[in-house]
Amino acid sequence: MSQDPWLLTPGPLSTTAQTKEAMLHDWGSRDASFIEMNARVRDAVVRIADAEDSHTCIPLQGSGTFTVEAALCTLIPKDGKALILINGAYGVRMTKILDYVGRSYVVNQTPEDIPVDLEGLELTLNDDKDITHVCVIHCETTSGILNPMADVSAITKKHGRSLIIDSMSAFGAIPISAKEITFDALMASSNKCLEGIPGMGFAIVRISALEQCKGNSHSLSLDLYEQWKSMEANKQWRFTPPTHVIAAFDSAISQFEAAGGVAARNKRYSNNRRIIVDGMRELGFETLLGDNLQAPIIVTFKMPADTNFVFDDFYNDLKDAGYIIYPGKLTVAPSFRIGCIGNLGEREMNGALETIKTILKKMGVTTGVPANS
Ligand SMILES: *Cc1c(COP(=O)(O)O)cnc(C)c1O
Repeated sequence: MSQDPWLLTPGPLSTTAQTKEAMLHDWGSRDASFIEMNARVRDAVVRIADAEDSHTCIPLQGSGTFTVEAALCTLIPKDGKALILINGAYGVRMTKILDYVGRSYVVNQTPEDIPVDLEGLELTLNDDKDITHVCVIHCETTSGILNPMADVSAITKKHGRSLIIDSMSAFGAIPISAKEITFDALMASSNKCLEGIPGMGFAIVRISALEQCKGNSHSLSLDLYEQWKSMEANKQWRFTPPTHVIAAFDSAISQFEAAGGVAARNKRYSNNRRIIVDGMRELGFETLLGDNLQAPIIVTFKMPADTNFVFDDFYNDLKDAGYIIYPGKLTVAPSFRIGCIGNLGEREMNGALETIKTILKKMGVTTGVPANS
């Protein structure tokens, strides 16, 4: 089988052969072997969050957004009110979800290259006693910025509100311990830093909070309370489970643990980031973010000023050479993104970098320096 292109994107991501091979079977949803696998995955996820004493893992079919929507609408009651901390597209998406389902909310918004505003959070919680939940994005994949979860959690806790974290692109690569960072729900998916395949998300929810959530959800299929109750009662999913996705996830998690867990993954991704950032800077490119704000997940580069640089040609040439990157999603400046996550290491990052050099030469681009630098 020929090598698939390497995915230097925010997902779906490159996965190992072992993860793909784990799918070469069929499982009945009531099979003992499937039920055991499902329980193993749920337990492992809770363990990764250091949350065995307090939280449970509720998996859900669909992409990550399905789980974000499910968690928001299960946790926030119909008469609740959310404060959404926004510095990118995924924060904005939370407002769209709440618009659809008719939950009340306010936002505190900062530019895409600035972390969420802690003083603003403190002030808003002081002023508005109706706010029941604070919602935040751990790593805003729009830019690759890391938001300060420990501070957001401490302020939210001090004000006695409930914290909901979208850790989709960070979970498994950036440590988070439920014993140190208080949250009622944290959402992620099978195919980001844990390197499974796409098709399911999961929420890690505080059991004492979840017990209060009966009847909150507007949606039958997205009701995490019912998904949990039913899974606890008979160990089965309510509706047809994504059996192959769970099998691949089970394999991906055992590879993750064998490789050294969160610390090892953080180290590999940080090394990937170092290779691409150092190499691109040598070519004149500039990152949107300073190194102190940049998560080891995905890096935003500003578009070069050189008129010989045509992004679509650059993208297509890279793809033909076996590397898929990602267009920018910023509102502030033209940009593109290169991901550090998935089954990628030094060889792939250096390979991408060498290919980029060749393509720039072919295009006649002498420097990657952006317009307003
Ligand atoms: C990937 C991602 C999601 C989910 O996106 P889907 O396309 O629905 O899987 C949500 N939040 C963040 C921060 C993400 O990076």
